[in-house]
Amino acid sequence: MAYSKILIAVDSSEFSMLAAKKGLELAHQTGAKVALIYVIDESKAVGNVNAGILPQTALLILKKEAEQTLDELAKMYNGHEILKFMPEGHPAKDIIKTAETWEADLIVMGTHGRTGLAHLFVGSVAEHVIHHSKIPVMIVPLK
Ligand code: AMP
Repeated sequence: MAYSKILIAVDSSEFSMLAAKKGLELAHQTGAKVALIYVIDESKAVGNVNAGILPQTALLILKKEAEQTLDELAKMYNGHEILKFMPEGHPAKDIIKTAETWEADLIVMGTHGRTGLAHLFVGSVAEHVIHHSKIPVMIVPLK
């Protein structure tokens, strides 16, 4: 079965960048449309009173990083059309919601994200998506 709409979930970690490369290769081979999603994790935009970082500033920093990552990947896919989603919310829930709304037929993501915890088989975002998505999920390991 050829995939026609692939949603790739990224968070700047090396795990997700490798997953993105594999997802882009697959999209190129199958001629599928491709979209990237980077969820701005609201729970991380809390700031740090001691360091004088306000929540709004923390949110801006997260958005900037997300934009840079999405732009970098879009450049790698140079010449091909690519959609970018950057919702603010809960990573796993928003990946699933966006995949459903955009009518993706495959979600591509890494085993782990920024938090590392490589001793776990898969990270929490990946685990939530695997358990709750009705759309097939391709999980790309680092090795
Ligand atoms: P984790 O479950 O956090 O260890 O991350 C596993 C994978 O979930 C990563 O490699 C990414 O593909 C994806 N992911 C994690 N956080 C986000 C996020 N905020 N936005 C989009 N994808 C994410």
